[in-house]
Amino acid sequence: MIYLNGAFMPLEEARIPVLDRGFIFGDGVYEVIPVYSRKPFRLDEHLARLQHSLDGIMLDNPRSNSEWTEIIGELIDANEPEDQSVYLHVTRGVAKRDHAFPKGVKPTVFMMSNPLVPPSRETLESGVIAVSAVDNRWLRCDIKAISLLPNVLLRQGAVDAGAVEAILFREDFLTEGAASNIFAVKDETLLAPPKDNFMLPGITYDVVLELAASIGIPFEVRRISKEEVLSASELLLTSSTKEVTPITQLDGKPVGSGKPGPYFAKLHAAYQEFKSSVMRA
Ligand code: PMP
Repeated sequence: MIYLNGAFMPLEEARIPVLDRGFIFGDGVYEVIPVYSRKPFRLDEHLARLQHSLDGIMLDNPRSNSEWTEIIGELIDANEPEDQSVYLHVTRGVAKRDHAFPKGVKPTVFMMSNPLVPPSRETLESGVIAVSAVDNRWLRCDIKAISLLPNVLLRQGAVDAGAVEAILFREDFLTEGAASNIFAVKDETLLAPPKDNFMLPGITYDVVLELAASIGIPFEVRRISKEEVLSASELLLTSSTKEVTPITQLDGKPVGSGKPGPYFAKLHAAYQEFKSSVMRA
């Protein structure tokens, strides 16, 4: 079951007009919210980021946070899996094609849920392969925009190279992955790029830094050079659906020992523990 503009219906029945500005211009923003044991994880933070994205494209939020919370709860109830990934999407609505904003048009609100499958045991034990790529996106990567063509092309480039993720560099500094945030471990310190306009402020990124602080992993938030990434002892990728995943090969070379490292093990365990404690609460 999906949600479209106020109604719940089976996915096959959902229709939007071809002049929707999401379809025509990619003029909209989205969120992906993980749901464990039927409870949305870090919902307030996802809704705050949604507001930031809507502000970034100058679109009024079509629902209050309590309305979002209620609709998300209903969508979770309408779908079977205990663990779900809720996709929420707002566009500037349907209007005659013209770049400038239309007046008096209602935003389109769409939500769907997919089963949430955390990284497999094999992925956690072996890690994943990544390639480096030039970050050729725009200067507002902090907005979770539905216009994802650069990310699509970058990730497809990674897939074509036999990898699962592209690690992006802007002027030889790490920004993020095509669909994830990236951390490096260098000289026993966990390094995270600063949350600026060059990356999406990941909800999982924040959780990982909170966990690092609480379990005593030394960390620094600062610009990270490509050279530091290429010589890191560990690389991690994070996202709401991939949680904390180790990267064990970059551009055909092993990362550190070529196996998931001790910082990954600690952060992964802490993440799982944190998730369970939040779900029990
Ligand atoms: N950066 C990009 C470009 C992303 O698409 C995503 C999530 N899909 C992330 C970072 C991670 O964000 P989050 O932890 O909130 O899922």
